Amino acid sequence: LLRVRGVRKAFGEHVVLDDLDLDVHAHQVVVLVGASGSGKSTLLRCVNLLEEVDDGVIEVEGRDVTDPRADADAVRARIGTVFQAYNLFPHLRVLDNVTLALRLVHRTPRADADARALAMLERVGLADKARAFPDQLSGGQQQRVAIARALVSQPALMLLDEVTSALDPELVGEVLDLLGELKDEGTTMLVATHEMAFARHVADEVVFLHEGRVHERGAPEQVLDDPREPRTQEFLRRFR
Ligand code: ATP
Ligand code: MG
Repeated sequence: LLRVRGVRKAFGEHVVLDDLDLDVHAHQVVVLVGASGSGKSTLLRCVNLLEEVDDGVIEVEGRDVTDPRADADAVRARIGTVFQAYNLFPHLRVLDNVTLALRLVHRTPRADADARALAMLERVGLADKARAFPDQLSGGQQQRVAIARALVSQPALMLLDEVTSALDPELVGEVLDLLGELKDEGTTMLVATHEMAFARHVADEVVFLHEGRVHERGAPEQVLDDPREPRTQEFLRRFR
């Protein structure tokens, strides 16, 4: 479903992604781990065309999205993205945050969009907050709304970048539990995280990035519990 081949991205002299290959198959959860600055966010931003790659190919559902003739809006419509936190529109009610893309991008009629958004809010356990404004919700609830907003357009691929790192520790669990449920429902996800327990339980594959390269990849038990590479071992020691 997502195919990344030979992707290179530099900011000036600084090579952030270097000849990177990655696949995410349908219904698979691939978790990106690696030190701060290893290129996780940059990779996600290249996939949803917030950054342009310098070299290489990124295919989403078989379409080369790095082709300058690619329709960026059409690509983004197939991808749901959730960032760290606080990316809801503060002046819009929860329901309107969730329906916005449906109405503006997908041209879904209001009544339809509202019904789908309510169903999705129900799904994330927040139907009773539909009329609230984001600042009336906890951080964990806001992040669940952001996930509902990304899911409501029925994307082929979900990109999640450190979705729990801005949350108070007691709120992290509710968001990770939701992602675990989405995995069980077959949602295809590429997730950057520092939550190793989450990676261990939910990932089909863990990809360890180091200085913009895939340094080690494999099943979570292998990469997280029995890493082959010294750099992976060193990285993981910090989480023990
Ligand atoms: P973290 O775990 O802290 O989120 P990361 O793995 O997501 O880190 P990136 O955000 O992808 O890392 O950053 C990789 C490198 O690219 C960093 O050294 C960063 O400073 C650099 N970088 C990212 N975006 C830009 C930009 N727009 N301009 C210049 N340098 C950038
Ligand atoms: Mg990042």
